Formats: sequence, structure tokens, C-alpha cells
Amino acid sequence: MKKVLSVLLAVCVLFGLCACGAKNEEEKAVLTMATEATFEPFEYYDGDEIVGIDVDIAEAIAEKLGMELEVTDIAFDSIVPSVQAGKYDIGAAGMTVTEERLEQINFTEAYYTEGVQVIIVKEDSTITSVEDLFKEGADNVVGTQSGTTGFDSASEQIEGQYGTVKAYDKTTDAALALVKDSIDCIILDNEPAKAIVKNNEGLKILDTEYAKEEYAICVSKDNSELYEKVNNALKELIADGTVESIIASYTAE
Ligand code: GLN
Repeated sequence: MKKVLSVLLAVCVLFGLCACGAKNEEEKAVLTMATEATFEPFEYYDGDEIVGIDVDIAEAIAEKLGMELEVTDIAFDSIVPSVQAGKYDIGAAGMTVTEERLEQINFTEAYYTEGVQVIIVKEDSTITSVEDLFKEGADNVVGTQSGTTGFDSASEQIEGQYGTVKAYDKTTDAALALVKDSIDCIILDNEPAKAIVKNNEGLKILDTEYAKEEYAICVSKDNSELYEKVNNALKELIADGTVESIIASYTAE
């Protein structure tokens, strides 16, 4: 009898522990992040998994907040409206802080300050410098990603004057179009440009003198409590060198 009782007791304790464990898992709040995962090294697929600088930084923030990170891949130009509407807690997508976006959304401290728009062309392209894009009679088809700063500047400076601008949902689709000669060049951020050139043969990068852009995480203006928490966690991760070492681990040549 005693034995039966102690077995019963052990079973109960075990169940209790399991139940408790499960409950803890369930109770861990989820930090939802929207991104667009064709922006290597900031976010890209490794098999089925989305990895990259932004994912690691968001993981580190979630850990500090005792939360569990959940990443969703959506179109880049849907990130700000979706976060603003409360569909996701944060947006992290190599997103440049711009005046226009600041009217719609809050940005944390910048975690990356070296973003520059560059031009990708085929190795044998007649476009050999930025100046070629803006010379008299130029009529190029320029590929960009929808809703990006690259799209904005190409629309302003090229569309209708020196050619036409095409917008793609994914940077990888723009790369494919360039490889197939459907477009003459792509304008996008420097680090993802390096990844595209690495992943596709016969392409090269033309440097530009465009101003540096700063990347930050966006949070809804209606969610100031979360904004404070995320921003403070990020500031700590910048101060203690975590962010720098995450970036270095993805950009070391
Ligand atoms: N940094 C650029 C922007 O914010 C591009 C970002 C991206 O394509 N993921 O518009």
C-alpha cells in the first residue's frame, strides 16, 4: 500500500511539474516581429528559418523582456502600416529612419548607421558609374524594392527624366530581373547588395556618394509602454557591445 501511495505521489509530482512547465511556456508573452526576409544579412532564409542581424537583435531584446520572439515575413511596404495597426509589436527590416516614416511610427535608437544606397549592374553593363544614370539621354529601367528609400530616391531622381523605376516585393526578384536583363540596374542598400552579388554570378556594385542611412526598429505610436521597453533593452544591448558583435558576426569578410 505504501509503495502504491508513493508511486501515486511520484506520478502526481511529475504531472504537477509538467503542468507547471507547460504553463510557464504558455505564459511567456510573445513579441511579434514583422520583417521582409530577402534582405541578407539583416534577414534572410536559412532553409525554412529566418535568420540575420535583425532577428538576432530582436531575439536578444525579447530575452531581456522575458518574451518569446515570433518572426513573420511580409512585404516590406506593409511593415509600417501593419505595426501601426497593431498587427505586429515591432518591425525590424533594415528599416531606415526617415521623416516620412516618423510621421506614422516610432523608431527606437538606431542600431546600424552605415546604410548607403548603391547600384548593382551586370559586370559588362554600359552603366559604369552613378553619373551614367543621370547623363543626357539616359533611359534606364531601374529595379528597386517597393516602399524602400531606394525606391523613393529612384522615383524622385530618375522616373520620367532618366528612365523608369520598377518596384519588386522581394530584392531577390529584382536580382532575377537584372540577371535576365529585364532591368538595367538595381538601387538598394549596400550590405544586401553585397549578398546579391555574392549569390548571383556576373553582377557588380557601383558605389555612390549617397548619405548614410540609419536603421532602427519601429513600434506603433499607440504602444508607448512596449516602445520604452524595447528601446531600453536595445540601448543596453548597444551599450554592452552585443549589437556590434551580432553585426560583426554577419558582416565579417
Ligand atoms: N533601408 C531601406 C529602407 O528602409 C531598405 C530596407 C529593406 O529593403 N528591407 O527603405
